[in-house]
Amino acid sequence: MIRYYNTETRAKEELEPIEPKKIGMYTCGPTVYDYAHIGNLRAYCFEDLLRRHLKYCGYEVTQVMNITDIDDKIIRAANKAGIPIDEFTAPYIEAFHRDLSSLNIEPAEFYPRATGHIPEMVDLIKLIIDAGAGYRGDDGSIYFSIAAFPKYGRLSHIKLEGQKAGARIKHDEYDKESVADFALWKAWDEQDGDVYWETALGKGRPGWHIECSAMSMKYLGESFDIHTGGVDNIFPHHENEIAQAETATGRTFVRLWMHNEHLLVDNRKMAKSLGNFYTLKDLPNKGFSPLALRYLYISTHYRSKLNFTLEALQAADKTITGLYDFLKRLEEVKDNPDISYDPEFDNMIEKAKQGFLSELDDDLNMSGALAYLFDLETETNKRLEAGNLNRRHAEKVRDLFLDLDRILGLKLADALKSQSLEDEIEKLIAEREQARKNKDFARSDEIRDRLKEMGIILEDTSQGTRWKKR
Ligand code: AMP
Ligand code: ZN
Repeated sequence: MIRYYNTETRAKEELEPIEPKKIGMYTCGPTVYDYAHIGNLRAYCFEDLLRRHLKYCGYEVTQVMNITDIDDKIIRAANKAGIPIDEFTAPYIEAFHRDLSSLNIEPAEFYPRATGHIPEMVDLIKLIIDAGAGYRGDDGSIYFSIAAFPKYGRLSHIKLEGQKAGARIKHDEYDKESVADFALWKAWDEQDGDVYWETALGKGRPGWHIECSAMSMKYLGESFDIHTGGVDNIFPHHENEIAQAETATGRTFVRLWMHNEHLLVDNRKMAKSLGNFYTLKDLPNKGFSPLALRYLYISTHYRSKLNFTLEALQAADKTITGLYDFLKRLEEVKDNPDISYDPEFDNMIEKAKQGFLSELDDDLNMSGALAYLFDLETETNKRLEAGNLNRRHAEKVRDLFLDLDRILGLKLADALKSQSLEDEIEKLIAEREQARKNKDFARSDEIRDRLKEMGIILEDTSQGTRWKKR
């Protein structure tokens, strides 16, 4: 039984999808006015872990991650650079996909862009107006009247008392202190330059919140299973998404809301002005693989704040290297008839697997899950050192780690790939030495060329042949 924490009810709930064994999941994606910072990447790693966990448990996942390619910040920056917004956003969208791939984040099924869905947003706003919750302000923009949606505040648990009747806010981002009617459609003004759409609602552009209501329902239906984002999205963004969607459809918009806590840097908010602002590009300069960052993120519970330090990243890097080395050692275990097969060890392997999975079923408790794997690693190493690890058991442990890596996403199989490549190189070199001893120079040259094609350079020394990668 899978239980996840629902932000709306503030409790762990049993996962009950609308359709058996299928999950529709919407994820608030990037606003592409800059490169993603490592805080954003924490959100995407959490969502990937969730997606992989569901898939491992046999669910067919349809994930939609939007790309906000129009908003106040984008317009301001593109106008300043004097280029059209799609030209301005293109490199950031490309970089975003590159970042996901370096972190081994599985691609979502859909990446809808806001600018490609204006008609859907206009239709949704019309439904909201028809339902009596949308009205035009004196600036020509269309606002959502939160008084028309009595359940407003259900997700973020805000109190509406003290709110000034009819107070309006045009900015997309604001805090709980300024809860107010919010913009569905922003009428064009000079600051927008030539960024606008001529629609049945007039000349203008959509508000940020309507984007996600319109695009999620287009791809996942009026009611779907899971909606995710970072905690900063809870209010006002997700609260407003609920109000818009449920006013238009009269149905429950989302069944389960899941939010990741923030990443802090040196215990402070990450900010360019504080000099503690990192993107993924900065990390290789510091000598780390992006997978170390992935490990750091998934091994910390998604609902806990995470304080990023280079020391923590270093420790994560060491752990992954340790796992790779462990798998390589397992691969080297020889078949030896003198080592008896201990059936008790089968039980330990099975217990580790079940323990790992049951911890994840409990709201993705990864540190609990990893403890089972590391205990198994310790036990296996003990047997290795004592020289009584049976080859079949070494294979079973290896296969378990590779199987669970479908959730971890640490590319553990790569450890073996490079190992088998090294084995192949050593074998070819030995064969070449033999050919040379036999004075079969044609064969020896053939092998040298073959290795050259593989990017391997040979160096013949008095102690034998050494090799290096080109
Ligand atoms: P944005 O591009 O700002 O719309 O953010 C994209 C995603 O990153 C959203 O789900 C945010 O909630 C999330 N996010 C933003 N800042 C952080 C942070 N410091 N830690 C974790 N997640 C964050
Ligand atoms: Zn969103």
